[in-house]
Amino acid sequence: MSHLEKVMEFNREFVDGEEYLSYNTTKYPDKKIVILTCMDTRLVEMLPQAMNVAHGDAAIVKNAGAVVSHPFGSIMRSILVAIHSLGAEEVYVVGHHDCGMASLNAEELLEKANAEKSTVDTLENAGIELKTWLTGFDSVEDSVRNSVSMIKNHPLLEERIPVHGLVIDPGTGKLELVVNGE
Ligand SMILES: [Zn+2]
Repeated sequence: MSHLEKVMEFNREFVDGEEYLSYNTTKYPDKKIVILTCMDTRLVEMLPQAMNVAHGDAAIVKNAGAVVSHPFGSIMRSILVAIHSLGAEEVYVVGHHDCGMASLNAEELLEKANAEKSTVDTLENAGIELKTWLTGFDSVEDSVRNSVSMIKNHPLLEERIPVHGLVIDPGTGKLELVVNGE
């Protein structure tokens, strides 16, 4: 059985067994917060637990590295939607130690992607800065500060919204405060 088939079979049992009943909530975050964090597998359940965030409490936006790399990209849009459409009143950017984005090397990734040199050249010549785009950060704290600053200074974000920056240990769940947005 393929993984997809297993997922679909499990899902039928989930729905038939009415397991959804214990997840009854709304799309509006009860704690009025939006969290931007990393897609790292170690954070899937531990980060909400470590932050006392239960099902329905928060809107959670994820990408590799918990990075806002562009003020008008999909991550910033998600944060604005969480605030203006879903009622979030506070933003938490939570990076983590031992993040895959800290060691991301553009050359290595392009090699793994079997990218032809001609393709890379064509994209670079078209103004797409592939190497920059595929390069990670040196310091997770600096990366969190940059993302906090980009959110805080966004023209569509009101002054009243606090934007906090934190770093979590993926082994222990311990949070370190990098930016207190109050
Ligand atoms: Zn990560």
